[in-house]
Amino acid sequence: MFVEVHVERGRIRALIPCATGSIIRTETSTFEFPGCSLYPGFVDNHAHIMGLGEFLSNTRLDLSSSEQNAVDLLKGSEIRDGWMRGRGWNHELWTDPTLPSRRTLDNEFPHTPVYATRIDGHCAWVNSAALIKAGIDPSDHSGLLIDDDMLPVMHAMPEYSDDTIRDFIMRAAVVCSEHGITEVHDMDVSEAAARITRDLAESGKLPIRVQSFVRGQNGEWLDHGLLPAGGEFHRVAGVKLFADGALGSRGALLAAPYTDDASTCGIEVVTVQHMLAQCHAAIDAGWQAIAIHAIGDQAVHNVIHVYEQIRQREDAQEIILRIEHAQHVRPEDVARMSRLNIIACVQPTHCISDAVMAEKRLGDCRLPWAYRWRSLLESGIHMGAGSDFPIEDPSVIAGIDAFVRRIPRGMQAPWQKHECIGQDEALYAFTEGAHITAGMDYRRGRLEVGYDADFTIVDRDLLSCTPDEIHLTNILATFTAGVCRYSRYAT
Ligand SMILES: [Zn+2]
Repeated sequence: MFVEVHVERGRIRALIPCATGSIIRTETSTFEFPGCSLYPGFVDNHAHIMGLGEFLSNTRLDLSSSEQNAVDLLKGSEIRDGWMRGRGWNHELWTDPTLPSRRTLDNEFPHTPVYATRIDGHCAWVNSAALIKAGIDPSDHSGLLIDDDMLPVMHAMPEYSDDTIRDFIMRAAVVCSEHGITEVHDMDVSEAAARITRDLAESGKLPIRVQSFVRGQNGEWLDHGLLPAGGEFHRVAGVKLFADGALGSRGALLAAPYTDDASTCGIEVVTVQHMLAQCHAAIDAGWQAIAIHAIGDQAVHNVIHVYEQIRQREDAQEIILRIEHAQHVRPEDVARMSRLNIIACVQPTHCISDAVMAEKRLGDCRLPWAYRWRSLLESGIHMGAGSDFPIEDPSVIAGIDAFVRRIPRGMQAPWQKHECIGQDEALYAFTEGAHITAGMDYRRGRLEVGYDADFTIVDRDLLSCTPDEIHLTNILATFTAGVCRYSRYAT
């Protein structure tokens, strides 16, 4: 939409209709964007800032064409603290789509430990040197670690220094600004990352706002002395738990066995009783938001069961209860989510990347439960959106395109077309709708006097352009708290 915005002390002071484009006037400067549209700043409500910083620094394997090609790419990587790290491989995209093996890595790297995670982050491919560092006998080991099995090797790697963490956060934050993002809900945040994010925010260096959701699977927030706290640019907003793993590595918890592997229903990362106890403890301590990762239909069902108990508490009526991903929801659970005011935090680009794989894992009968956006909205469920970067690209434009067109990679037509949503609904899920999921909608997500001056300026009208044009959209500028943080034309 075209509008002239006047900004004072980081907030919107006046809004004036403008016929020719968008204008931002601050105390000291005027920024003109003829023919361009201005929207409330884009929000990514589920992402991993450290992960993106690491991804940008580690060897990218997402474009590898084969197992050997991935090994070749690793050869050029920097060895940090004695380890070689890669991330993002996806055997489904390789010329031979079989899982990689320890031996291929051993041939090239007999001594340096190698740790290379799959695109979904739920599986690691390691060599013998890495296994030995973790105290694991490599002789009969495949070199593939899934979910909890990754932990011993992860623990064997040296921790990042504060300087490295600072560097990762800043790298990621700059890339977010380039994508028009003004605020990120950062998931599974460690004590060190929360502390350093706060330092960067308070010293005015952070170009985006961050809502941290700290680890809560085993009450880690308590060990670190982290409690809900708020500032303008950084807020420790909530607690994050996991109910299951991911679909790609068959870690997502299904009620019935996987269609392409009848021997498993996935992994129950945590029991319902344990989740419930952790949620009660977090609410007792004053946390206002709980986010639980649940992908498979049984994991979603389990989390709803936990939230149902939580909602019975007199003091928990206003608590934000989020299901992260909510990828496979059974029809009866859709109604329960709506009744209990449980928020679905979805990542539309996951559908674009994973639909072909999901068809194999779930089979025809369960497909209608997958990535169901229209049916969630129509049941009155609130939906916020994110990218889950670095698993997906931190592009909100790609997210809106995915919501609206729903055309998976390798397909020509919309997949389960009845679950597409409108451009207005998609934009809402990435702006005001996303702010609702961290309780910040009272001052962000709208172009209204008194609201925070967080804006994204793009070169087309996202509400009136044709769906086929959405993906062509360019981000021209990003403003957070009335300050220009990114400009495409900056010199
Ligand atoms: Zn995530």
